[in-house]
Amino acid sequence: MPHKAGPPPRRRVKSVGMTDAISITRDLVRCPSVTPADAGALGVLENILKAAGFEVHRVTFSEPGTADIDNLYARIGNQAPHITFAGHTDVVPPGDESAWTHGPFSGEVKDGFLYGRGAVDMKGGIACSVAAVLEYLKDNGGKPREDGQGSISFLITGDEEDVSINGTIKLLKWAAERGEKFDHCVLGEPSNVEVLGDTIKVGRRGSQSGTLHVEGMQGHVAYPHRAANPVPDISRLIVALSDEPLDHGSAQFQASNLEFTSVDVGNAASNVIPGQARAKFNIRYNDNHTQESLRKLVEERLTKACGNRIRARIAWEPSNSNVFVTKPGPFTDLAVAAIEAVTGRKPELSTSGGTSDARFISSYCPVIEFGLVGQTMHQINERTPIADLEKLTQVYRGVLDRYFA
Ligand SMILES: [Zn+2]
Repeated sequence: MPHKAGPPPRRRVKSVGMTDAISITRDLVRCPSVTPADAGALGVLENILKAAGFEVHRVTFSEPGTADIDNLYARIGNQAPHITFAGHTDVVPPGDESAWTHGPFSGEVKDGFLYGRGAVDMKGGIACSVAAVLEYLKDNGGKPREDGQGSISFLITGDEEDVSINGTIKLLKWAAERGEKFDHCVLGEPSNVEVLGDTIKVGRRGSQSGTLHVEGMQGHVAYPHRAANPVPDISRLIVALSDEPLDHGSAQFQASNLEFTSVDVGNAASNVIPGQARAKFNIRYNDNHTQESLRKLVEERLTKACGNRIRARIAWEPSNSNVFVTKPGPFTDLAVAAIEAVTGRKPELSTSGGTSDARFISSYCPVIEFGLVGQTMHQINERTPIADLEKLTQVYRGVLDRYFA
């Protein structure tokens, strides 16, 4: 029997259905998008964002010798300030599928965890940003700001985990050619180390590899005076280049480091003095250097160590992993405040770890990385606590509230 005056309609505490972070994560995880496959992952986002009023572009990039890659760019609003949420829907292979307690592409939820490849790296992070933006728009009349200012976009690639050739680097260029201007970027990579809220990544070291070549003169070991052995020489040069620090760190970074990773003379004979020797090395460098100044510094040290006797040179490998840092300021402050409000933790502003697409984005606008907890990424049984998906969504929501306030 209906009451005359029924109970008040139940208040919806948070959005449910297809557009909350958990169901979006599940939908994405169920697409086996191991690089370079898309497997429908971008289509999941396209549908949701179109329904929310975004202008959505699907852009495919190709290059001889590489797989074609799908990418997605979606924007709502056409004014500044413009905040973009970046990420990748591709994932690394699952490894031995039988070793997973829940299928790697099942998106199964068990005991408070969502399982699956990409759950933390980084379909979960993308899902939280989409859910947060949708909720924010719903509460603000469908627009970034009531006065018509402001833009929100998504910059999503399917090419991050492998060669990263047909992904973010080209998508950014494509967007720039369309006249897109980004003011700030949040990249939802799993930045946290132990617990949600412990770390924002505000920069990364640069990476530069090279090979040291030393020329000698081949000869018989019994007649060393008629040969020039490059083995002792390359040893001296390795010690010289390794021993002298490149710097002592900077405000945001640890000290740069040059590390030799292999030495090779290609000599199988024990009675021959080899004619050449080479050694490979990699440098992780901080913001005391640019790629150019770093190469110059190392070459100067090599010249000094060679004196006028040793003949050596360095062959540099091409590198697009330049150092970058987003200095502490209003943007990092508002992210820290949003994280603290939700998690009760004051995150460290870190520059440690390997590279990500932030190195490309940093040429266009300040970028910070904040996402889920990285502990299980790339592992068997990759999983995220459901509670973290909810909290990360609230953090992104807090970022949006503060950004457009
Ligand atoms: Zn990732």
